[in-house]
Amino acid sequence: MIKKTKKRRVAARPAQNPRSHIQAQKRYDVLIVGGGLAGVAAALETARAGLRVAIVEKTILWGGLATTGLVPLYMPLCDGKGRQVTFGISEELLHRSIRYGPGRVPQRWRKKEQTGPDTPADELAKHDELYAGSNMGERYMTVFSPMAFALAIDEAMEESGAELWLDTLACTPIMAGQTVSGVEVENKSGRIALMAKCVIDATGDADIAFRAGAPCTDNPLFPSILYQYVSLALAREAGEKGSARRVVTFGGNGANEMGVGYHGGTKKYSATDGKDVSEFVMQSRRLARLHFAEKQKTGGQTSRENCYPAALPAMAQFRMSRMIDGQETVMANRCNQRCETSVGLIADCRKVDAVWEIPYGSLLPRKVEGLLAVGRCMAAEGYAWQVTRLIPAVALTGQVAGIAATLAVQRETQPHSLMPADVQRQAQAKGICLHIS
Ligand SMILES: Cc1cc2nc3c(=O)[nH]c(=O)nc-3n(C[C@H](O)[C@H](O)[C@H](O)COP(=O)(O)OP(=O)(O)OC[C@H]3O[C@@H](n4cnc5c(N)ncnc54)[C@H](O)[C@@H]3O)c2cc1C
Repeated sequence: MIKKTKKRRVAARPAQNPRSHIQAQKRYDVLIVGGGLAGVAAALETARAGLRVAIVEKTILWGGLATTGLVPLYMPLCDGKGRQVTFGISEELLHRSIRYGPGRVPQRWRKKEQTGPDTPADELAKHDELYAGSNMGERYMTVFSPMAFALAIDEAMEESGAELWLDTLACTPIMAGQTVSGVEVENKSGRIALMAKCVIDATGDADIAFRAGAPCTDNPLFPSILYQYVSLALAREAGEKGSARRVVTFGGNGANEMGVGYHGGTKKYSATDGKDVSEFVMQSRRLARLHFAEKQKTGGQTSRENCYPAALPAMAQFRMSRMIDGQETVMANRCNQRCETSVGLIADCRKVDAVWEIPYGSLLPRKVEGLLAVGRCMAAEGYAWQVTRLIPAVALTGQVAGIAATLAVQRETQPHSLMPADVQRQAQAKGICLHIS
């Protein structure tokens, strides 16, 4: 017999008076806005330090571009000359990215505890074979499945004890003078004020910093798209090799971060203009359609069955969109140069022996306090932005912001008032390398 469930009557609510639209208020030590890898690293760092932490994410997956955005490559933690430069949660996340899916760390970077005793030797050898002779293969990096990574991040976030707010859009910063003291968020419960002693902007687009009045720099981009697809050819190859690693693989169309691959016919779009974002997304999906039309042209009747899209990005794939004008900046011409306020190192993925020191002040917006900005929206200049936006760098700066936020809360002060030396000491204690030599 089918049990009848009672329908719950929900009383219609009158439209909210704009002045009393907040339905609830909650208080935390640290509030992180944006659950990409920068936000995730910040949440892990602060929650593990025992603070009361909340993280809000507008989609329903943690990981941002690296999961929802289908980016599949964890760029190198090393300088290409055999030296690891990026450590800490950034390294932890690299290993988590392959916990539930394919991907291997090259032999020379593999530590006993990371391979596990049950990994067959021939499986491990496959990765090394694949990249033999290429500089990328030698580097401490990996290809990963974005959805496998998403599951592994869930695990880390659950273990951390941070309060997790998915499907929650951060709307307006709440200001006390020039200090950010919380953020109004909106979800199925309505508008909620999340108050915090320290806020971390990990939106990728510096949304909170900008709306709080911090000066920022915009960077419009040509459309491009990275997607997943399946094909008969790949399935055959998988059968022959006995490995499902590439059954679903990656394809793309459009300009890369340098504008290479741009064939004209479209304009640049701004990630910070609502209408432009829709047009960018529609244009980029049009590029995917064109790509599949081309691929399927050659296969006759069965072409649609033998090569088709498996997944499209569920967030706009803007690489560099808007960043804060920082108290300090990662400068393009400071490659391989010492910086006295450095809180960590990041390596270029395209060049060998090109490493930048990250000044603490590049996470601090100007004119606004109580706020750190991390990930691809921290302050960088010219080519250096191409490096600070990469996955290892965003995870590193997320952790460093978490370290600074923890210190600020413990000392009842602002991140802007901390001495860089204090943040450096804590970062070093966590195994983060500060200087090139
Ligand atoms: C096409 C493309 C290819 C790339 N390829 C590589 C690569 O191969 N290797 C590599 O290392 N890097 C690559 N990158 C760069 C890298 O993936 C990203 O720069 C990095 O993942 C950004 O991390 P993030 O946390 O700073 O920002 P994001 O990943 O953008 O995360 C920001 C998060 O904040 C959320 N958010 C934003 N606004 C709000 C709001 N108002 N309220 C709530 N949540 C909000 C978003 O939903 C998102 O989850 C690529 C980028 C692109 C676009």
